[in-house]
Amino acid sequence: MDNNNMPLSLEAMCKFSETYAKRTGTFFCIDMSVTSVVIEGLAKHKDNYGAPLCPCRHYDDKNKEVANTYWNCPCVPMRERRECHCMLFLSKNNEFAGNNQSINIDSLLDSIK
Ligand code: SF4
Repeated sequence: MDNNNMPLSLEAMCKFSETYAKRTGTFFCIDMSVTSVVIEGLAKHKDNYGAPLCPCRHYDDKNKEVANTYWNCPCVPMRERRECHCMLFLSKNNEFAGNNQSINIDSLLDSIK
């Protein structure tokens, strides 16, 4: 991906994800390409619909879902039960959890090229 195609909200979503992982005591996936794809999806939704709608679900009407707020990240299942089905925020005992709560934006950009 060249910089012209980079979602405008990418850096903001990276910062959000780092802050939220630290606040909730969760960790990013051992496979950072999972993290990258999810963050890119959140950033695209934020650019296009004004809110970081969860990128791992199908919606018939994304504008309606954004207004509904349930699946705006962090979604209700994450806020209430620490459940992130996108595998962006993983609890320490999850077999796919790595040790990272921070993101190197350059490696993230490389992995979504
Ligand atoms: Fe965010 Fe919830 Fe989707 Fe995880 S499942 S990326 S917390 S909206």
